Amino acid sequence: MFKNILSLFSMDMAIDLGTANSLVYVKDKGIIINEPSVVAVNNKTGQILAIGEEAKRMVGRTPAYISATRPLVNGVISDFEVTEQMLKYFIEKAASSGKKMFGFGYTPRVIIGIPCGVTEVEKKAVRDAVKNAGARTVFLIEEPLASAIGAKLPIQEPGGNFIVDIGGGTTEVAVISLGGIVTSKSLRVAGDKLNDDIIQFAQKEYKLLIGERTAESIKINIGSAIALKEKKEMPMRGRNLVTGLPEEVLVFNDDIQRALERSVKQIIAAIKVTIEETPPELLSDVMVNGIYLAGGGSLLRGLDTLISKETKMPCKIIDDPLTSVVRGSGIALENIGILAEVLSEDEGEEPPI
Ligand code: ADP
Ligand code: MG
Repeated sequence: MFKNILSLFSMDMAIDLGTANSLVYVKDKGIIINEPSVVAVNNKTGQILAIGEEAKRMVGRTPAYISATRPLVNGVISDFEVTEQMLKYFIEKAASSGKKMFGFGYTPRVIIGIPCGVTEVEKKAVRDAVKNAGARTVFLIEEPLASAIGAKLPIQEPGGNFIVDIGGGTTEVAVISLGGIVTSKSLRVAGDKLNDDIIQFAQKEYKLLIGERTAESIKINIGSAIALKEKKEMPMRGRNLVTGLPEEVLVFNDDIQRALERSVKQIIAAIKVTIEETPPELLSDVMVNGIYLAGGGSLLRGLDTLISKETKMPCKIIDDPLTSVVRGSGIALENIGILAEVLSEDEGEEPPI
């Protein structure tokens, strides 16, 4: 009863704290924050200089005393204090609109996605960081489950739903049935690794040192998992490791495809292992409905086609794959009663009004 009254005045929000991107969703408002998970810190003073988009622009361009860091590595918090500051910035930015709406200063209830199979210590770190950043109650939801809810898959039913979320740091493969995760696998090969593959390729082929942002833009513009019908090319700029001078070379899509091949194969191998571990009665649904792809990494050209070919099952990218976790988490928070068993709430009681 009190809980209901309280939630009427509070600002509920869903957060996707990704290795690459962080998003915040507020009921009736939609996604109000969508920024890179990057924080720029002055190493001399410890002061935070920029968060999100602004900080990302500093990556690789900062003077020695400023470091633009990503406080999450492989989906889990690696720098607790910086993560907390980043969350605080996002929550305050999101909550300020709510206060205006209601004229109350209530602290929000927050649901936040976590990768599958993280340890209790890692879960506690997320919970504490969100609490310290100003949340009243914290709910945790496993990201593939949130993605599946965001994609409107029938997860509450007894059938099987196969979802693969390819993010920045990790690829999460999960089979969901009756509102819970039946089997899952997490591997540290995803978007970042593909960027790294391109950096290695440039170094080996052209003795060219390129930055992360250059590698990412090559991946997005001409990268692929399969051979493409139309040829694509792009200039690649960096520093020649022999002469030390800036240099520009032209790179082609088939070279990039080859550079990414090994990592792509690892992602597909993890999908195949998960298929082998799926109970046969759920597998029959998966064979009909297919494999659903989420996360930014799923947008690599031809990846869905290759997965389908290799697994002999249909494979489709869900609508808006970069926002499914935050949208699904938002839906879960609005239906907390129905999904209670799949969410782990805070130990603490909600304070009385
Ligand atoms: P996370 O949840 O870990 O923050 P996201 O789901 O936001 O990750 O996905 C980010 C990753 O998706 C990055 O590695 C980015 O390079 C990659 N990505 C985004 N768009 C594309 C695209 N069109 N093609 C290939 N990769 C992409
Ligand atoms: Mg993600």
